[in-house]
Amino acid sequence: MSEQLIQNACGKDDLILVTGAGGFIGGALVKYFLDKGFRNIRAVDKKPLPMWYQHHHGVESLCMDLSEHDNCVKAAENAVEIYQLAADMGGMGFIERFRIQCLRSILINTHMIEAAYRAGCQRYFYSSSACAYNTDLQKSPDVRALKESDAYPAMAERGYGWEKLISEMFCQEYWAERGMKTAIARFHNVYGPPGTWDGGREKAPAAICRKVVEAKHEGKKEIMIWGDGHQTRSFMYIDDCVKGIDMITHCDKLIATPINLGSNEMVSINDLVSYVEEIGGLKLNRKYDLDAPKGVAGRNSDNTFIKSVLKWEPNTSLKAGLKPTFKWIEQQYIDRKAGKRTVMDTI
Ligand code: NAD
Repeated sequence: MSEQLIQNACGKDDLILVTGAGGFIGGALVKYFLDKGFRNIRAVDKKPLPMWYQHHHGVESLCMDLSEHDNCVKAAENAVEIYQLAADMGGMGFIERFRIQCLRSILINTHMIEAAYRAGCQRYFYSSSACAYNTDLQKSPDVRALKESDAYPAMAERGYGWEKLISEMFCQEYWAERGMKTAIARFHNVYGPPGTWDGGREKAPAAICRKVVEAKHEGKKEIMIWGDGHQTRSFMYIDDCVKGIDMITHCDKLIATPINLGSNEMVSINDLVSYVEEIGGLKLNRKYDLDAPKGVAGRNSDNTFIKSVLKWEPNTSLKAGLKPTFKWIEQQYIDRKAGKRTVMDTI
């Protein structure tokens, strides 16, 4: 049913560009398109190739800094569709501390969309974030789910969220003024393998999995939780994310229209810890770091709009998605202990 809504997907030999392809979602998106039979994919990231989370045979993989104009022009050359996922970002610990770095992603988005337009790109996808929403609406753990109109009047997350909001506006204006078809998804916390699980940029699900894995293997009895554990969020499994990106990009009803792409299964961080403990088969004493970055008090995705347009919404339950995530992080931990390279290790 929902597949019928997908229109004008490019031909299997047309060039697809995925930026940020060395990272979590970009890498998964390249795999998704390969699995669908697309044969002409260019993947770009500023990380050196050995540090990419995923490597795919037959994909043109380039290491380039897309905050530079000339590199965006090279990356966009002949691309029929562009998926812009490159950003300097991380979990709460990163985006609250490094606001300038987050804001500077505006250079990537500004140059990339202009290069896309000049290259004659037919569809341009932009990865926005729930951090674009008005923070005044997220002050309580039992928050009402955020609907698309809640981004304005604007009071986005400082740094990261404002950059997303401005980049969304670029996408809307490139359609309004210049007729380039753009798609904008506001992701709500994405998790799954192979994602960032250590080093300061990891998000809550991966961080909790890592802490429980460490406790399990090192005999620790305690877990440190950022904030009081009552803050709420929803978490979307990576498979739902890449499927949603495809559907949103190819739905003409959604051109230049920001849309939530997230799960609406709202849980507290305490719930999240309980789920991971259950998977890991242990119970830990909870300590709370009230001074740690914790972001807004509550956030959830209102999926009324996506369900009405696509007849679909991200539907992997958190418990189901956490199982492969935990297993993968545990293996990364074991590999690292054994002296093997993991996706988090630099070259
Ligand atoms: P990620 O950090 O794993 O991937 C982003 C990639 O962009 C990295 O590999 C990084 O090296 C690359 N990059 C950064 N600066 C670059 C530059 N100047 N030139 C080229 N590449 C550059 O993050 P992710 O989780 O895969 O996120 C992808 C996109 O989705 C980002 O735009 C992010 O803001 C957005 N998003 C993610 C989440 C989430 O929960 N993961 C939530 C909301 C929005």
